[in-house]
Amino acid sequence: MIKFTPILLAILYGLAMYRFSAWRTARELDARSTELADGRLKSLTDRMAAALELPRIRVHIYEIDPVNGLAAPDGRIFITRGFYNKFRAGDVSDAELASVIAHEMGHVALGHSRRRMIDFSGQNALRTALAMVLGRFIPGIGVWIAGMLTTLLAARLSRSDEYEADAYAAALLTKAGIGLGPQISLFEKLESLTQQNGGSAPAWLLSHPKTADRIAALKALEAKWVTQE
Ligand SMILES: [Zn+2]
Repeated sequence: MIKFTPILLAILYGLAMYRFSAWRTARELDARSTELADGRLKSLTDRMAAALELPRIRVHIYEIDPVNGLAAPDGRIFITRGFYNKFRAGDVSDAELASVIAHEMGHVALGHSRRRMIDFSGQNALRTALAMVLGRFIPGIGVWIAGMLTTLLAARLSRSDEYEADAYAAALLTKAGIGLGPQISLFEKLESLTQQNGGSAPAWLLSHPKTADRIAALKALEAKWVTQE
């Protein structure tokens, strides 16, 4: 029993961290967001709502500058003020912004946002437990190996989430008559924005797999759907 106590403690710590970060995220979002009211965008989100047989899709503006979209663990969808400003300035089209909303809806529908919070705190617990176990057998580098293994696992999990959310968005946008075009053109735009900024990518790109790989995955889907028709 004594042997397993540290692992149990690590798991309890992870659970407590999860509750705390979910609470903190919700509180931060409540304090710094408002519901988005934009007629041009609403006509597109209404088309997506109709495709899903929902009365409407609620989108919130999160008052921060970095260009990002977010799906909260409670299922709310957020677009940052920075992203919305790009749309207002004409750098990003209404359909392109709708594709971001569709992507975030994918994370909600597929249960990613809740899992991701668990991933994050679960990662801490796993890292701590692994470090303790490995550290006993391989003093010194055991801790380092534990960290590397945990990071690798988390990267794999989040990458597959992104491709799944992209595929969900592609299906939804197609059903709503908007198509995959805006998704692909947005990726290309954000990528070129990165080059203009001297390599500093918008946050929404950084937390996602390589743009070229995502575009290739979307084109593969498109090709498959076209041949099925
Ligand atoms: Zn995503």
